[in-house]
Amino acid sequence: MMPPETKIAPLAAPITSLWGVGGERAAQLARLEIHTVEDLLLHRPRRYEDRRHFRAIAELTRDEAATARGTIVAQGLKRFRGGRKSVFEIVLDDGTARLHCRWWNLPFMEKYFTVGDEVFVFGKLVDTRPRTMDHPESEVIEGGEESVIHINRIAPVYPLTEGLPQRWLRGLIWRTLERFESQLVEPSPAPDLKLFPTRANAVRMIHFPEELTDVEIARRRLALDEFVVLQREMQMRRKNFEARARALPCGGDNRLMKPFLARLGFNLTRAQTKVLREIRADMGGQPLPGGFGPAGAHPMRRLLQGDVGSGKTVVAACTALMALESGFNVALMAPTEILAEQHFRNFKNWFEPLGVKVELQTGSRKTSNAEHRTSNIERKAEYASRITHHASLFVGTHALFASGFDSPRLGLVIIDEQHKFGVAQREQLVRKGNYPHLLVMTATPIPRTLGLTLYGDLDVSVMDELPVGRGRVKTFVRAADKLPKVWEFIREKIAAGRQAYVVYPRVEEEDTANDLKAVTKEFENVRQSLAPFRAGLLHGRLRSAEKEGVMVAFRANQVQALVATALIEVGLDVPNATVMLIENAERFGLAQLHQLRGRIGRGAHESFCILISGAKTWEARERLRVLEETTDGFRIAEADLKLRGPGELLGWQQSGQPRFRFGDLVDDLDLIRCARALTTPMGERSRENI
Ligand code: ADP
Ligand code: MG
Repeated sequence: MMPPETKIAPLAAPITSLWGVGGERAAQLARLEIHTVEDLLLHRPRRYEDRRHFRAIAELTRDEAATARGTIVAQGLKRFRGGRKSVFEIVLDDGTARLHCRWWNLPFMEKYFTVGDEVFVFGKLVDTRPRTMDHPESEVIEGGEESVIHINRIAPVYPLTEGLPQRWLRGLIWRTLERFESQLVEPSPAPDLKLFPTRANAVRMIHFPEELTDVEIARRRLALDEFVVLQREMQMRRKNFEARARALPCGGDNRLMKPFLARLGFNLTRAQTKVLREIRADMGGQPLPGGFGPAGAHPMRRLLQGDVGSGKTVVAACTALMALESGFNVALMAPTEILAEQHFRNFKNWFEPLGVKVELQTGSRKTSNAEHRTSNIERKAEYASRITHHASLFVGTHALFASGFDSPRLGLVIIDEQHKFGVAQREQLVRKGNYPHLLVMTATPIPRTLGLTLYGDLDVSVMDELPVGRGRVKTFVRAADKLPKVWEFIREKIAAGRQAYVVYPRVEEEDTANDLKAVTKEFENVRQSLAPFRAGLLHGRLRSAEKEGVMVAFRANQVQALVATALIEVGLDVPNATVMLIENAERFGLAQLHQLRGRIGRGAHESFCILISGAKTWEARERLRVLEETTDGFRIAEADLKLRGPGELLGWQQSGQPRFRFGDLVDDLDLIRCARALTTPMGERSRENI
């Protein structure tokens, strides 16, 4: 990734324009995603070899990979098993000892070496008598004018592909750098060069550092440039959008809100009130004190981040009411049918007494009336009635939008549990013709680095407070041999009137059949061991009517234990369920476990989450202890990010997500902030409130 300003012709030239790069080499380079001169200059070394200092062969060990240098004193190829297997061996001598280097079943290695050659090898000993390395990285030292590139310096070692020699690539990069270094100009805006090397210097340092400490200095500079490019793209998108799109007046007049809040049965938390004030300003109400730009000039683009159980649904309801009061329709999207059904039920209870029509639209059900399927004519009539009727709320899964749902006077779109949608889908929504206001809600606490890169074009509201009167959630990590005790405990709780979730790892795409069998079999066990109490089974392969049936029974406490796959992860709200047993917990990410755990602790009763770990290693079990120690979603997400990297954390498809050569989403928060500061005009700094 490069700033557009510097993407001038010479650097954008195809790699074949370089001397010595023919069709075959170009094809090899293409496999490394090197297509242009610039790609080549930004090809990041995998490691570095300090060829000013070598390890004496006599001092090589089994524990640590090191570089040695010696002269070949003998070599030979041995074939066995009728010539099908082979081992090629060279013996190096550096004056301190001899080293045997072996390559198994790579007979062509013979071609590369000759007795008398001087060779670098990098690796660990597999044996000390005699000293032996298997498959070391190796490079023959050649004299001549190029020797300055490869020896007596810190040499870069690049990722390669079959047939591409390390030495050839290093030479090519050296020569290309000599010729094109002056083209590597500063992006605008350039960072403070007292704090960073120039871009050209950084590129040189990443390939041919004077000292190993230079490498990180250079990496940071190049990472910064990547973040600047990303920030600028996001800002462009935002600017375009702000210039094009006018906000629909959706501030409301409290006509519905007042009676809604009066009948709600609890007071809003301070955090909920604060967020609603921000939302109202976006939707066309009063400008916020200290806010940027004229409030309500462009449609709302807001991310609401609140930990599980912080009460995002009520905020969604109030936001919907503002738009409805203003005469606009509202669409509420949920990632699963079960969650859509739950929202439908809640919102119906809340809104119908206020005279607002609530409709359900899912993949399998198109209207609020499940009994009959609407014909085309009926649908047209219904469409017409939407125009003449009072504003309505449409609840559905993302199928609602994928299938071309189109409502006249759509004023507001709310997406619940945004991370399940992925960035690409959000983009699709934002591009919809009539620019409704957009509120996306997520419970997954997003580490700052990710938030700033993925949601940088959204305004962010954070709800950092849970409603009062919640029972605590205690979490325990247990080994599988404790299961009988755990089941005894669950029976006790059920006998006392509570309900339980029993969760098995996600049904993986490729292994659906097996996992399904596992969860079905477990269900039988649970059913028998809990009798006379009743258990229900919930997984993604059930038809919607079946799923709904199970959920209705669980909500009504006709079923006391719900055996489920990770399908229940998002959103479900059954306050009487206070126990959760998660089997094979090590197969889940920490953030996901935190989400799952969010299903309990929703009522006044104390809740218990038991994580059964089938992990063999101590580390894997320790990882789960984070959940015993804290219920702070942010801490958990940070831990998960460190352990598993950004892609895993939110379980996204990587599509639409920025990729970095040098930037690191785990460690580079300061650089991301720096990039934001560089690209954000002074007056707009307040947007960085994540
Ligand atoms: P989440 O943020 O995880 O989506 P929900 O919106 O499902 O959380 O809310 C969790 C529970 O808390 C619900 O039962 C909801 O009715 C309740 N709740 C929400 N706001 C408050 C509040 N201010 N006071 C008390 N209970 C609340
Ligand atoms: Mg929710």
